[in-house]
Amino acid sequence: MGTRLTPEQTDFVAAVRDFAKRECGTRDQRDALTGSGREPHSAELYARLADFGWLGVCLPEEYGGAGGGLADACLFLEETSYGMVPAGGFVTTVITAKAYERFGTERQKAEVLAGAVRGAVLAIAMSEPAAGSDVGALSCRARRGPDGDWLIDGQKTWISNAHVADSILLVARTGGAKHAGLTMFHVPAGTPGVEIRGIETMGGREVNDVFFSGVRLPADAVVGEVDNGWRQLMAGLNYERLFLAATMLGLTRRAFDDAVAYVREREQFGRPVGSFQALRHRIADLATEIECTRLLVREVAADCDAEPDRLFPREASMAKLKATETAKRAALEGMQMMGGYGYATEYDMERHLRAAVVSTVYGGTSEIQRDVIGKSYGF
Ligand SMILES: Cc1cc2nc3c(=O)[nH]c(=O)nc-3n(C[C@H](O)[C@H](O)[C@H](O)COP(=O)(O)OP(=O)(O)OC[C@H]3O[C@@H](n4cnc5c(N)ncnc54)[C@H](O)[C@@H]3O)c2cc1C
Repeated sequence: MGTRLTPEQTDFVAAVRDFAKRECGTRDQRDALTGSGREPHSAELYARLADFGWLGVCLPEEYGGAGGGLADACLFLEETSYGMVPAGGFVTTVITAKAYERFGTERQKAEVLAGAVRGAVLAIAMSEPAAGSDVGALSCRARRGPDGDWLIDGQKTWISNAHVADSILLVARTGGAKHAGLTMFHVPAGTPGVEIRGIETMGGREVNDVFFSGVRLPADAVVGEVDNGWRQLMAGLNYERLFLAATMLGLTRRAFDDAVAYVREREQFGRPVGSFQALRHRIADLATEIECTRLLVREVAADCDAEPDRLFPREASMAKLKATETAKRAALEGMQMMGGYGYATEYDMERHLRAAVVSTVYGGTSEIQRDVIGKSYGF
């Protein structure tokens, strides 16, 4: 795709934009769908997205998907984020689905990928209270029972969308030290012994503690190979980082447009506040940052689509770092440019800020992304 859209992609973007405007274009519509911003995922709206076939945007056609690439999925994420569509379950779903697509058995793929296309939400559980950035240190344990089945005990934390998920892709310790002994497991919702407790955050109801107490899984719950979970996780990093980058690109564009609309209208000292040089320069800097981010995200997505078996750790980390740091800056600048009104819950800017501040933490913090980029130069 490069940085220019194909005619099909242009039509796709226009259709998603229309949908967003129609279904959640006003604050009243969004509040009704999200419990006044507390629930970032609306099952009702998600089902409508499934009806359009959009949830399978980058999943294979043989499972009902549209067979598009990463670039198409990034466009969908960018536009739904820009349109403030409460489809919070999509990003973990598409990240997780890509792991099943690469490593799942035929039976797992038929169930999970086809389900995701039809509107099932998927969650992925890696992080633990004592294993965040150092995820290879995780200790949630999976032991093989006498019949070949698996017994799981441990705790996961910060698990996005686990409370609305049809299944969780669990990463647990099956072997010895650090990265060598990790395995992925398919855990359907409602499995006995799994308890999900919400964590209160600035973003509302999005993340969860997930407890596993004597959870029994069948032998065929393994996704991919036993003890190969780390390599499998690494193979999905392109997807995770790019999808998060595209989501934040959409949010940045929205924060920018909202701020510009406000400073055009708001007058002080007899003129629109946007016409003061101090604000005009901020607008110019943000607009430039947005274009840089857009070019980077599109270029990296195009590279990944062109060479699907190659990892682009440095480039994907750059896209995630740039997009999330720019989102944070755009929301902070937007708030400053709106004065007191940016701080009021009546306007969306404070929501943009709450969504942006955490984006430099999840999916690998900015410090970790910088580490990946720096190491790629031999440091
Ligand atoms: C909203 C949200 C959603 C999430 N969703 C999921 C999910 O769906 N599934 C999942 O498994 N996890 C999820 N996470 C967990 C997320 O991936 C971790 O929070 C993240 O990796 C950081 O881990 P931590 O919070 O334990 O911070 P820590 O690792 O304790 O880091 C604390 C600070 O130290 C810095 N630091 C740590 N190590 C280094 C280092 N080597 N070099 C430099 N600085 C370092 C960090 O950058 C950070 O600033 C989510 C988190 C949040 C907040």
